[in-house]
Amino acid sequence: MPLPAHLWQCLMLLLLTLISLSPLVQAWAEFSPWANLNQLWPKGVVSVCYESAATQHKYEPLLRDAMFLWYAAGLPETFKLQSTSPDICAVGIYDTVTVYDTPRLYSTNIGMPPMVPNEGVALVQHKMFLSTPADHPDYVILANIAHEIGHVFGLVHEHQDPALWRDFDGGEWVFKFNCENLEDFDRVTRGMTREQIYGPEGVCVNYRAALNVGFMAADFLPYPLGDVTGPRGKWPSMDQVDWDSIMIYGSTAGAKEGTNVLTKIDGTVFLGNLVPSSGDVAGIMEMYNSAFANDFEPFWNDPRSPHFYLFQQYSSCG
Ligand SMILES: [Zn+2]
Repeated sequence: MPLPAHLWQCLMLLLLTLISLSPLVQAWAEFSPWANLNQLWPKGVVSVCYESAATQHKYEPLLRDAMFLWYAAGLPETFKLQSTSPDICAVGIYDTVTVYDTPRLYSTNIGMPPMVPNEGVALVQHKMFLSTPADHPDYVILANIAHEIGHVFGLVHEHQDPALWRDFDGGEWVFKFNCENLEDFDRVTRGMTREQIYGPEGVCVNYRAALNVGFMAADFLPYPLGDVTGPRGKWPSMDQVDWDSIMIYGSTAGAKEGTNVLTKIDGTVFLGNLVPSSGDVAGIMEMYNSAFANDFEPFWNDPRSPHFYLFQQYSSCG
């Protein structure tokens, strides 16, 4: 999808453990289901809260339309976003995601928050920041929202799968990353040494270093090995990239006017995508069909539960 240059796309830090799944599945990348920090949503149902009634009024229809892009791509309709009552949103902080309206931001935490806090990691409510900039056509807005939905279910950016970067140091392999063309490169790197920018721990090289300074490079650089998983083995070829993924950035995403940030290794530019690919759908289904899927149902007295109405009926009998 042609993500406009100024969008700060999401980034999440994920988690531990690398596993290698079937190479038969078309390419995708997801947070590792062995990870301890984030979870999958119960039975693939995302409980959605909104920061305000106005935000709900604005985004509920857009999220519904964006979900239809996923269904059209083959995602089963058992996967859904379910609006949740304000009462539940007030107490169910850690098994909900809250939508916020912003001027130009798209950013979403990946998956569902963990059940218990991890050592040294604050337990935070998951958020989905959306926007409808006036200069974006509707189809771009919907594509961006569909991209964010990919994150909420657990997908990460296709191009950030470490399997698509050089095996031993995360260097360029199938992608070329023109860090200095990022919109915020000049601001972020002002006063930094060459080492701080391009060294092994530099903000143009190391994902965590970029994340720590709030640099957009964190949306491009490969995740640390083990943080994400996917179907690719080591040293993949160009044709193992899912160029149709809605989770891949086009070459101009995040770029200064007239430049490209992410290209193929030979310099060829490519576009982002407007709809989810079969590989995106395969990634979500692989996750939720895995042994790590969250098969729990919410509490009985929770409106998200399929038993809720039954429960209400009996509980009113006194
Ligand atoms: Zn994203």
